[in-house]
Amino acid sequence: MFTKTAQTLGSTIKAGELLAVLKGHKPVARFCLQGNAASSLKTQCTSLGLAFLTADFKLALSFTGNYSTKASLLPKNEDGYTVCYISLVRHEAEKAKKAESQNNHTLLGTLLGYPPCCVAFFGKNASEESAKHNDFVLPCLHNSQGNIFPWKMNIFGRYFDFSLLSHCPCSLSCKPSFAHAQERFALLQNESRETAIMVEGILKSAAIYNEGQVYLLRGEERKRHFTYTHVLATKKDALYNLLKQHKNMQFRDKIADLEQKEIGLGALFS
Ligand SMILES: [Zn+2]
Repeated sequence: MFTKTAQTLGSTIKAGELLAVLKGHKPVARFCLQGNAASSLKTQCTSLGLAFLTADFKLALSFTGNYSTKASLLPKNEDGYTVCYISLVRHEAEKAKKAESQNNHTLLGTLLGYPPCCVAFFGKNASEESAKHNDFVLPCLHNSQGNIFPWKMNIFGRYFDFSLLSHCPCSLSCKPSFAHAQERFALLQNESRETAIMVEGILKSAAIYNEGQVYLLRGEERKRHFTYTHVLATKKDALYNLLKQHKNMQFRDKIADLEQKEIGLGALFS
């Protein structure tokens, strides 16, 4: 079922969200889908016995690519992304739809299964973040101690459609978020061993964050020196080309250095 859902939705993250709802691991999932994907999902939800609702507005996503953290509202009849709410219980999906229409982010975050500390973190940083990339990466890194974190907490994988978390945690050491990520990984292992192996392979990486762009390096860390063989990037820009020309770099605190020059924020996930 997992592989088929991932194909229908064009996303392993969304298929993981649907699975989490189906298995009772979160009350509601919220997706943004374009074109016919929403009606395909509706058909699939009905066959699985899941409630499916859509918002009374559409969204224009601000960034292109696999993952966008920012959007603006459009009237429902315009071309844009449909916001879908999926739940085992219709009333919960209705509550999520209403919470979003009323801009009640605390209730919406709770219905989406986010831990209370991360819901509060979202509320605290929302206005500052909405003026920027709206990805909450900087406040999350600011709250995180050290620079090596559990791979299941790798929030940077989401830009490449691999993540075990549906929210940005209040820190990369957030314990309730880690418990969520562990549950999600166990679900995935049961449903699709192949996908679980792929997710683990991508999330065990070093991440570099620079002005909203993300670069994932696949390799091995040894005493803060990271030797890598592959580079994934949200944008194939000058930094991507520079990273491709090298095979190792250093990490100090949450800073990534290449040839002793700072190239962005960084975090290691092992
Ligand atoms: Zn938290």
